[in-house]
Amino acid sequence: MSEVKFFYGENIPLEMHKVRIVQKLNLLPVEHRQKAITEAGNNTFLLKNRDVFMDMLTDSGVNAMSDKQMGAMMVADDSYAGSETFTRLEQKIVEIFNKKFFLPAHQGRACENIISQVFIKPGQIVPMNYHFTTTKAHIMLNGGSVLEIPLDEALNVNSSFPFKGNMDVEKLKMAVEKHGPGNIAFVRLEAGANLIGGQPFSLENMQEVRQVCEAFGIMIVLDASLLADNLYFIKTREEQCRDMSIREITRALSELSDIIYFSARKLGNARGGGICTNDETLYMKMRELVPLYEGFLTYGGMSVREMEAIAVGLDETMDENMINQGPQFIAFMTEELLKKGVPVVTPPGGLGCHLDAMRFVEHIPQNEYPAGALAAALYIASGIRGMERGTMSEQRDEDGNEPFSDMELVRLAVPRRVFTLSQIKYALDRICWLYENRKLIGGLKFVSEPKILRFFFGRLEALSDWQTKLVKKFKEDIGDSL
Ligand SMILES: *Cc1c(COP(=O)(O)O)cnc(C)c1O
Repeated sequence: MSEVKFFYGENIPLEMHKVRIVQKLNLLPVEHRQKAITEAGNNTFLLKNRDVFMDMLTDSGVNAMSDKQMGAMMVADDSYAGSETFTRLEQKIVEIFNKKFFLPAHQGRACENIISQVFIKPGQIVPMNYHFTTTKAHIMLNGGSVLEIPLDEALNVNSSFPFKGNMDVEKLKMAVEKHGPGNIAFVRLEAGANLIGGQPFSLENMQEVRQVCEAFGIMIVLDASLLADNLYFIKTREEQCRDMSIREITRALSELSDIIYFSARKLGNARGGGICTNDETLYMKMRELVPLYEGFLTYGGMSVREMEAIAVGLDETMDENMINQGPQFIAFMTEELLKKGVPVVTPPGGLGCHLDAMRFVEHIPQNEYPAGALAAALYIASGIRGMERGTMSEQRDEDGNEPFSDMELVRLAVPRRVFTLSQIKYALDRICWLYENRKLIGGLKFVSEPKILRFFFGRLEALSDWQTKLVKKFKEDIGDSL
């Protein structure tokens, strides 16, 4: 890697860009933050952006765009059919992925809708390294089911294994033997496996998966939404790829895939999405659905400006000094927290830094939503908005029983090129303060609980006056400062 090394002292992440457009942030006093989280039903999804200091909810659609992307958007060629902009995007896909056929879609889940409708027959299964929320929903909607076969290591919160996103190839073979290749719609690999902490798979693992799939005539679908981080980790963690360029690694992964789809809200730092393949038969099958759900074949629900931004953004994704930014800041956060003994997911992945609520607030039982409570407490202590990824994000079964999730995480997403190191240091300061005062954090209970995707709109209440006590302690320790 062509990374900057510091001569004195420790290496810290270095921003490889300058900031020329800024947005003013607002940091409310601590009592106002308590009021805001109460009004939001202790659900960070329901906070208003104007009450948030650092928005670490997600990396979706909130990555910073470059001057080149903004410039390209100004010269987009608008037309319903046959726009030059679409041609430029199509050519960029050929250049980067070496895939001839490209179908545009308005975002990642729209691609999942098309792929699932075309390729899943009722009763079929889709083996994958790990599921993503929208992916699973579309597969199930079409009568299929998800078979998760990650390595056992994937669910080990604290690990030093570099590729926790790998698929267990032995389990894949067993699944093919058990169900028969005809009952497998396709095998799905997710780059930068989102729900286990943005964890990558290796090129070697994908090569092994490919061998099994080829032997049984099963197709591989690559979800490339979080590909940028995965590319960086392959380059920095996988011996056989040290001397390959990011472009070469991308081509190698692409060659092993029959279909690639992505959310451009993440990959390419823009909006929109798309599907590409080299197989004309697969392309023709999927193509029929694009005008039905997305729009004409040369825009697929995207504006021409978005398409220009994706084309430039994909190009920039091939730059090591661009894609290293997210992972380096996340690694810095994770390592600093480890030094202070704060429980976090290791090794650091892409997407964000993940607090392990199961240990952070080990006194809160899972039916009182430790990760939800920690996310609410962190907002009070800092004005930072994270996302609960634990039991609150699960759904009750038909009998109303609540399944407890494998992990209780608070995800602090690090949108690409958005925050500076001083802001990250502020976040670390407040997380460490909260960790020292963790015994003050109490549980939550639902007061309004939607049946479907309850984590989006559900409202909760603190189980005691713990939040008032937390504010009091904050004022004693940190004073009247924000
Ligand atoms: C975000 C995401 C999607 C869905 O993309 P949207 O653009 O939000 O619809 C699919 N897969 C993964 C891995 C994602 O992170």
